[in-house]
Amino acid sequence: MRPARALIDLQALRHNYRLARRLGGGRALAVVKADAYGHGAVACARALEAEADGFAVAAIEEALELREAGITAPILLLEGFFEAAELELIDRHRLWTVVQAPWQVEAIARARLSAPLQVWVKLDSGMHRLGLSPAEFTGAWRRLRALPQVAGLVAMTHFARADELDSSRTAEQAAVFSDVLAGLDERPVASLCNSAAILGWPAVLPTPPADRDADAERSREEGGTSWARPGLMLYGANPFAGPHAGADLLRPVMTVESKLIAVRELAAGEPVGYGARYVTPMPMRIGVVAMGYADGYPQFAPDGTPVSIDGRPGRLAGRVSMDMLTVDLSGHPDATVGTPVQLWGDRVRADELARHCGTSAYELLCGLKRMPRGIRGA
Ligand SMILES: *Cc1c(COP(=O)(O)O)cnc(C)c1O
Repeated sequence: MRPARALIDLQALRHNYRLARRLGGGRALAVVKADAYGHGAVACARALEAEADGFAVAAIEEALELREAGITAPILLLEGFFEAAELELIDRHRLWTVVQAPWQVEAIARARLSAPLQVWVKLDSGMHRLGLSPAEFTGAWRRLRALPQVAGLVAMTHFARADELDSSRTAEQAAVFSDVLAGLDERPVASLCNSAAILGWPAVLPTPPADRDADAERSREEGGTSWARPGLMLYGANPFAGPHAGADLLRPVMTVESKLIAVRELAAGEPVGYGARYVTPMPMRIGVVAMGYADGYPQFAPDGTPVSIDGRPGRLAGRVSMDMLTVDLSGHPDATVGTPVQLWGDRVRADELARHCGTSAYELLCGLKRMPRGIRGA
């Protein structure tokens, strides 16, 4: 059998969730959209279910997959519903929904539900992707608060540049958010932070709305003091462009590994692979690994991209093919057919590999394909 495989370490996932929850300062929705960033949404949600405050997904299809697998915890639809007809399923499966546009408020007002809904009202504080404008927010909030179809409300926003620690933009967005909230006649439960904000922007964490008894009472009913929304960090990847002390505490969840399936002895000046991108500078051994871009390995990874050969640092040599890639074995005299090669995991961090390849850890993890996934620590 082809030796390419991904191993998913669920202990590491739980470790990272606990860290995210602690640093987030309140409750935390584990973001498991896009099949848990390529890690397997059902396996990840089951591993976290005993301790996670809830889960977040991009769309109802992803939520239904979790419900069908028996996950009963709260699940938030981060983009809300795409059409009003989804409200019936949202009601039936007890899902939480974001409201990001005025038409969704009206759809809820017209819906016949078996029980009131938990609604997260999204403010566009400056990213200009989804969310109600500051001018729309207050009216929508008050209207939702008055509807019998609505149980609890959480105020949320999303940062565009929290991964840029030298940008003033995150603080500006947080200020827009608190200004808009200050115009309400209550202090709502708030949700601002993705992974980069949890790790890099402790100053923007919402303060608990505990200064008035009525607010404190309602905030308990609406899920506590505040909610973080960690995604990438759950999977152990660093969201920043450079090293970060908080991110160093994360443990990688996914390890992608394969084996050498051939070893070539080449003279100096011999081309390797498509386009002869790599030419041997001296007589050397080249190893062929069963891993390629059809598995999700970046096709345009440059020569020198780190790999780990039998636990020791190695490097890519030659263009990545669909099913295979080639590595320099000059520092690895014992490497032979069957020697294990790690493409990313604890020895080659996904964010480090992504940086070499001009992509992101997000794209790398979500792009995993074709190979079997093995689960550890269930
Ligand atoms: C995907 C997503 C997150 C998680 O972001 P990470 O950067 O992966 O932590 C949080 N909030 C919203 C609205 C999202 O869409």
